[in-house]
Amino acid sequence: MTKRLDLDKFPDSVYARELRDRRKHLRMAPELEAEYLDEHLRRVQPRVRTWTGIAALLGTGFTIAQVVTHATLNAIVLGHLLVILPTSITLAWLAWSKGRMRTYLRIAEPLAALLGAAVAFAVANSVASGNAEELASLTLLLIATFFFMGLQFRAAVIAGASILLSYAIAALMSDVTTPLLLKSVGLLGFAFALGATIGYEVEHSYRRRFLSHELMIELADRDGLTGLRNRRAFDEHLSRVWQQSMRSHARLAVLLIDIDYFKRYNDHYGHQAGDQALQQVSAVIAGFARRPLDIAARYGGEEFAIVAFDLADDAVTDIAKRLCEAVESLQIEHAGSACSPHVTISIGVGLAQPMINRSPAGLLQLADETLYDAKTAGRNGFVVHGQDSYEILETGAFNASDS
Ligand code: GH3
Ligand code: MG
Ligand code: MG
Repeated sequence: MTKRLDLDKFPDSVYARELRDRRKHLRMAPELEAEYLDEHLRRVQPRVRTWTGIAALLGTGFTIAQVVTHATLNAIVLGHLLVILPTSITLAWLAWSKGRMRTYLRIAEPLAALLGAAVAFAVANSVASGNAEELASLTLLLIATFFFMGLQFRAAVIAGASILLSYAIAALMSDVTTPLLLKSVGLLGFAFALGATIGYEVEHSYRRRFLSHELMIELADRDGLTGLRNRRAFDEHLSRVWQQSMRSHARLAVLLIDIDYFKRYNDHYGHQAGDQALQQVSAVIAGFARRPLDIAARYGGEEFAIVAFDLADDAVTDIAKRLCEAVESLQIEHAGSACSPHVTISIGVGLAQPMINRSPAGLLQLADETLYDAKTAGRNGFVVHGQDSYEILETGAFNASDS
């Protein structure tokens, strides 16, 4: 049996929200749209290059054939020399050049429409002179346009519709008989509709695949019970911001947060109530790490951690103070606690200026030992230690029994 993901379980994931709310639409929220488009275009670039390359070769081949066959500068030969040859070569050149795909697409849209119009004109002329088989090349062009447009439904439909319209106009203007005109426009229209339907399905599944993939990456970083980042994601993030802090000479604060007398809470109210309390406390903690480089995580058991990037000492102290107050004001009854009638936390804050001879692990250790100080000072409070405390702290003094 295949397992289905319950998207309602991830209310704070933008990817889950898109997957749930926009089943039929091709567009996503603007910030995701940009992320999707960049990734999509990077992925389809090789295919765009292949098909524009083939189109350039065909454009050159057909132009040479027309020049040789007609040996005079009539409208068809001119159309090949002035439009089909330069547009097909420019499309390929743009696709193969180093520029961004987004720039390519902006220019490719009108170019593909122009190329399509010129081919439609030439084909209408051939059909008028009895060569109805030329219609096949226009059908192929309708499909190839989808590749020229980076496998994007909307752009391909616009380019395709303009090809179809150009053919209808050119056929009306030349001597194509009415039955042949109706038949050819009908067949081309049918090919266009089929192509558009497939194009829609392809883009839709590309988008869903992107969202599911991003959601999976996001879930791998989350703790199942609280929805906060897990220990692995926290460690990765800490190393990353550590490097960033070294480059920008910013300071880092690590807040290690531990629920007071939580073993007694479980013993008194049961494990399930304990889980609910963990969820409530973690929701409060999440609210204190909203800036882009800050992160809140479940560090393990009933311990949490926050990394705060480049904050002044009093701002960090203020966060620790407000966090303690916010948890206590949840007023989760805790009969076994010796420091409050409600669930409370203790916080150890380590502050450091990342340098070559220091490490993220050292900062965590500092926060850990500071947490021990907060516990021995009576719990339901916080202690802050700056980097000058590295030397005086006794390594390993605080060892949480569950971690
Ligand atoms: P202190 O004030 O010194 O921190 O005391 P404490 O009882 O909170 O510390 P201790 O480390 O002795 O106990 C932590 C408890 O947290 C023990 C464990 O049952 C509980 N705990 C850890 N993870 C979970 C969890 O996922 N769910 C529940 N319900 N309890 C958990
Ligand atoms: Mg505890
Ligand atoms: Mg603990």
